[in-house]
Amino acid sequence: MNKIKLSDDVIEQIKDFKYWELTEEQESLIDKLITDKELQEHYKNYGLCDVCKQLKIDYCCNYCIFQPNFKNWTSGNHNVDEFIQKAQLNAKSAIQIIEWIEYDKFEDVEYLAKGGFGTTFKAVWKDGPWETTFCNQREGETKVVLKCLHNSQDITADFLKELGQKLRSLEHIAYGLECIHNKGLIHHDFHCGNILSNFDEFAYVTDLGLCQPANVKSSQNSNKKIYGVLPYVAPEVLRGKEYTQKSDIYGFGIIAYEFCTGFPPYHDIAHDEFLAMKVCHGLRPKCDYKIPQLVVDVINQCWDANPLKRPNADELPKLFYNLFYEIYSNRVDSVIYKQVEEADEINKKSFSTVQSSLSFTSTLSYTTHPQAVYTSRLLDFKNLPEPKNADKNNDLLGVLYSDSLIMDFTELDINSKGMPTVG
Ligand SMILES: [Zn+2]
Repeated sequence: MNKIKLSDDVIEQIKDFKYWELTEEQESLIDKLITDKELQEHYKNYGLCDVCKQLKIDYCCNYCIFQPNFKNWTSGNHNVDEFIQKAQLNAKSAIQIIEWIEYDKFEDVEYLAKGGFGTTFKAVWKDGPWETTFCNQREGETKVVLKCLHNSQDITADFLKELGQKLRSLEHIAYGLECIHNKGLIHHDFHCGNILSNFDEFAYVTDLGLCQPANVKSSQNSNKKIYGVLPYVAPEVLRGKEYTQKSDIYGFGIIAYEFCTGFPPYHDIAHDEFLAMKVCHGLRPKCDYKIPQLVVDVINQCWDANPLKRPNADELPKLFYNLFYEIYSNRVDSVIYKQVEEADEINKKSFSTVQSSLSFTSTLSYTTHPQAVYTSRLLDFKNLPEPKNADKNNDLLGVLYSDSLIMDFTELDINSKGMPTVG
């Protein structure tokens, strides 16, 4: 974690060297143990700290100046604090030192200019930076420029808040589904178009037009036809099997994916018989937008090819509530919190182009395939294969096509009603 921290083993080997008069043998050992050229120079100029035996930068030791002070300041944001602490311990020169300084440490603040990304001021920093020759004191009054960045107060706060709201919405949707299932009913047409949400916590399940008792077998219905929005329809249903409460859970899994990633399922491909076949082969929606693994795990369970492996509706609200609660109450040590931080990092790299590294506010954009249909319609597919999970379908970002799906698309006649030929 700390790049410049020497291990006890290294310290043990070099602690008795006189850095100002190294023998040739000692020097080559130093070059071997301290591989960073800049740090080698530091050692040869300043040696090790008398107190903690770590490398010094200039005449000072990062560990002795900064570490004891960690408890004396906070930015109010755990991520920012950790970032600054790491930077302090890793600084290889005075210029690399980052500090958190309260606003009241500045005086004579005067407006200078306003730019596209921030506003600048000049000011006097009363204490000034650390004096690097006398490590226990500061340089005193120093003129500085202050820059106020727009939208940079929180690092992951936006992402955290957004994900928290999404999880809360999913909890409500799952609760709505639980109520329907508890009454012995099946929703039968569970897709995002039937969810009313203000995307600020509350969400409601609507459109119960196709809702029917779970004990009514489709064979008892005169109308055996399947209506729905293809991406949300479970593979067993596409194949003409019974629509069960577990088929609603599959739809919920797709909805959860869509809520969390912001991408409609299979928005970039045609919603045709060929897609239906791939879904039976284990294809599930995927995109590059990273969401925390714990959420991915729940979604993966919901859209398992085997209906019996999908959770019951009454298990879901609690799962989402627990994840929401850990984020909401800032449990920085929780697994979900760490995964959120990690996902945020990845998303910033993948989706940021011009924004500053401190904010993630851009909106994801995508184009929808002309044959991607998100309204209910008759789904009539023949001879679909037995549903199975894809071999490597463990992650939304993982490889979702199983080997059996590597085929020559040009050999497929996707307009024919028959089973497409796998090349
Ligand atoms: Zn020290």
